[in-house]
Amino acid sequence: MKNMKMYVNGKWVESSNNDRIDVKNPSNGEVIATIPRGQAEDVNAAVQAAKVAFQSEEWRSVKAFERGRLLNRIAQKIMDNRDELARLETMDVGKPLAQGYADIDAAVRYFEFYAGGADKVMGDTIPIEDGLIDYVVREPVGVTAHIVPWNYPIQILSRSVAAAIATGNTVVVKSAEDTPKTATRIAEFFDELDIPDGVFNHVTGYGYEAGAALSSHPEINHVTFTGSVQTGTAVANAATKNVVPVTLELGGKSPNIVFADCNVEKAVEGVVKAIIQNAGQTCSAGSRLLVEESFKDAFLEKVVDRFKALTVGPALEDKDLGPILNEKQFNQIMKFIELAKEEGTIVTGGNQVSIENAENGCYLEPTIIDNVSTDSKIAQEEIFGPVLSVFTFKDDGDAISLANSTEYGLVTGIWTQDISRAHKLASRIDSGQIFVNNYGAGGGVQMPFGGYKKSGFGREKGWIALYNYTQVKNVAIKYD
Ligand code: NAD
Repeated sequence: MKNMKMYVNGKWVESSNNDRIDVKNPSNGEVIATIPRGQAEDVNAAVQAAKVAFQSEEWRSVKAFERGRLLNRIAQKIMDNRDELARLETMDVGKPLAQGYADIDAAVRYFEFYAGGADKVMGDTIPIEDGLIDYVVREPVGVTAHIVPWNYPIQILSRSVAAAIATGNTVVVKSAEDTPKTATRIAEFFDELDIPDGVFNHVTGYGYEAGAALSSHPEINHVTFTGSVQTGTAVANAATKNVVPVTLELGGKSPNIVFADCNVEKAVEGVVKAIIQNAGQTCSAGSRLLVEESFKDAFLEKVVDRFKALTVGPALEDKDLGPILNEKQFNQIMKFIELAKEEGTIVTGGNQVSIENAENGCYLEPTIIDNVSTDSKIAQEEIFGPVLSVFTFKDDGDAISLANSTEYGLVTGIWTQDISRAHKLASRIDSGQIFVNNYGAGGGVQMPFGGYKKSGFGREKGWIALYNYTQVKNVAIKYD
């Protein structure tokens, strides 16, 4: 895994210009691998291979349940290589090892879940009139593009690739330039299967080169993208020019809404975990704490105590938080912290942490910001780090409008013992997922996931995501 290659049309290849990109270990800044700097020409080769494979009789004749079996074999290979994959993911992303393991286990579940779905995506018959049979079938869309970010590489690849293959499509993955290792291993697993060349392809490279070439390619039929709003908008624009549908998952500014009647211990734990997972570099991070005004001091004190006890260190040491991905991401977070010093109060954290023998890693104390206005950048923009901002509300209506006060709407946590209030808030908050007295339900491979507002459109995970990769055909047959 030191000098990786791309996997195109069943072969391991260099980029067309032989250029390479360094991949660094976020824990210490060391170069741990290199990848080909894929160009438009390489992307085109992958798309053409996926197109030929899609149109081949060989792939078309693979029965639905057999596609399920193929996916189950990938799941088994991931399980068989669990330790190795967890370490690769941990080294690439810088996440604590236990979280690396959790990501590998989730990847297995995606392949298993969509393996089970492969032969259960059904059509319909529609009553029209005597002498006319009308039926609806769901057919694969064709060549699917999957542009994957660096924060959850194997999970995000698995959730869309498994659904696309389950429904009979072919795949071109563009992994993030910082985190290509587990995608390369998945390509190796596909290489070991007896399937036509070109069903699964993996290209590496920069977003503005390989990513842009993929999203604008006229012969892809669907794009799945996870990442920033800015890049997601560019990807959607490029696909629109070719009239190609996109599924966009673009992050959030997700609130945890805490009422005074909550189970305090569980709420504290939920709020803390929701923002420190993967050092806050999570699209669904619970980055806003909205707490009932009368309860703020008592609750915040407990959250601060937990923050102060959190440990920070290199990923393989499996502390509570690992490093930030790289200097660029770190500097971006620090800009928000500097702003918070001017506009509000840093309750705890806010400083870089120096770790012995890992001086080139970018480590940050988990941070709580208070006393910023609800329309400030800190309250509105995705910080993408272990930074929690605190706001208060007086009543249910106030909590709802505060929850809805950003451009995002991905995930919301509600902590209360009052079930009627929980239902009311769940129905009024613009958010793709709502969790009551928990946050994330342990990952939820089966639960539709995606955003309201600028958090994106379309849904991943769950049964519904299979439909991203199918198109509907209506057939009407007249008989005498
Ligand atoms: P990004 O959105 O630019 O990158 C995500 C993926 O898109 C990567 O594979 C990248 O190579 C690719 N990409 C980049 N430019 C592209 C283009 N023009 N066309 C096609 N693909 C392209 O994210 P980033 O630069 O890695 O991080 C910047 C910010 O994005 C972060 O600070 C964070 O706020 C946000 N982000 C969100 C998520 C999420 O899960 N929602 C994930 C990663 C980053």
